[in-house]
Amino acid sequence: MLVPASLIVGALGASIGSFINVVVYRLPAGLSVISPPSRCPACLNKLKAYDNVPVLGWLWLKGRCRYCKSKISMRYPVVESVTGLLFLLVFWVFQYSPQTIGYWIFCSWLLALSLIDFDTMTLPNPLTKSGLVLGVLFHTVLAFVQSTNWNSFNQIFGAILGAVVGIWLFDAISFIGWVIFQKEAMGGGDAKLAAMMGAWLGWRHLLLAILISCVVGVVAGSIGVVLSRRKWGKKMPFGPCLALGSLITLLVGEMIISSYLRLFP
Ligand SMILES: [Zn+2]
Repeated sequence: MLVPASLIVGALGASIGSFINVVVYRLPAGLSVISPPSRCPACLNKLKAYDNVPVLGWLWLKGRCRYCKSKISMRYPVVESVTGLLFLLVFWVFQYSPQTIGYWIFCSWLLALSLIDFDTMTLPNPLTKSGLVLGVLFHTVLAFVQSTNWNSFNQIFGAILGAVVGIWLFDAISFIGWVIFQKEAMGGGDAKLAAMMGAWLGWRHLLLAILISCVVGVVAGSIGVVLSRRKWGKKMPFGPCLALGSLITLLVGEMIISSYLRLFP
């Protein structure tokens, strides 16, 4: 039962990943994400439907354009595979529930934002803002689907409170960073992404997610320094760290919190 469902979920995720590739490429350039349909960036020939199949298309073209034979970045199939995997993880944790659909959306937004931040060191407002609204909407729908009156109010309130805590927390971090380093430590986009995370995760899980993000940031920064001998303090996109922190919290956050409480009652 779980195997055929997982295959469908993985394929769905990979297709969404294919769309994420388009968004990541076109949104920062100010292009429409809907038209024109997928085409080779080198020769502008339209892709055939069967070449556009996620991951497989890239494999049977051996990573080259059918027409001009220019190389197609390996990043496309990698992003598609990662999205498929994320969809599977969410499905395995949340099973057949409204949460699964909601968190697929959340993960897609996180992945698109991470890649854009990685490429351009910016987190576009249209994505962070729409992500925040979707997070509040998700909890509103969830509240009406499955809770009693009082709980549903709490659930919606929790999402809004999470968003507010996200903004405040980052303003506080930016302020402390500014006092210590006398320069801007965080981009404004990071605060908006934190607000979006708060709307989806609620303030309690948001704090855990930010804590994990900081650990991820320090580890990734150190590895970066060692591998590429880049200088300490050189700007690094923090969006991918926040996204990874959110993801870990989403999948195993409750487990982390309860084992922490068991260790330190
Ligand atoms: Zn081409």
